[in-house]
Amino acid sequence: MSEIPTILKKLEGTSEQQILVEIEAAYERIDQEQKGWYEKSDFLCPQGCGDCCAHFEPDLMVSEALYMGAWLLEHQPVLAHSVAEEKFPFYDKEHCQFFNPDSSLHCSIYGGRPFICRLFGASGVRSKSGELVWKPCRFYPSEQLAMHIPPLMHRQYSSEELMQIFGTVPPDMGALMSGTDADTVLLRDILPKIIRHLLFIIGMN
Ligand code: SF4
Repeated sequence: MSEIPTILKKLEGTSEQQILVEIEAAYERIDQEQKGWYEKSDFLCPQGCGDCCAHFEPDLMVSEALYMGAWLLEHQPVLAHSVAEEKFPFYDKEHCQFFNPDSSLHCSIYGGRPFICRLFGASGVRSKSGELVWKPCRFYPSEQLAMHIPPLMHRQYSSEELMQIFGTVPPDMGALMSGTDADTVLLRDILPKIIRHLLFIIGMN
């Protein structure tokens, strides 16, 4: 079921609606594949972490920005209108514009977050030889990794090692992002424009 049904309906018959449907399908594929990885590996981010949102601002493809904008308009219209006016009420200059220390997930746009925030730490990449490899997230505390059974370290693990340790491998980031645009723009520069664009199209439609 879509997370943005009202916005999709308001955009009926537009190219924006088509892009949103496609990006939502890609996000659902990530969810499905990560579910398998999490269930089998039992390897989750440390509770309440959020360090990957510090000193970081996502670069967005147009499709991701459209989804973020649509998700905000559907779930948090007041915040969406504020962002359309280039105001980011959560921004503290130390974290991403949507980091909220008071929310349990630390992200005030969690359901609309972009690819990087969905895949970081819970996906593998292809090595030069084409093998799927994985590294624990660099923010994962070394002491907690050492307590894992068997103990883990901040290093790259081969597919064979991952199968021995977890009985599975994480989703392949490259495969999940294949067919997406290469061009990206900083969140602060693209999202306000995209929300204004969505509001314009919705008004015209
Ligand atoms: S969009 Fe959400 S998860 Fe991604 S960096 Fe910003 S606060 Fe963190």
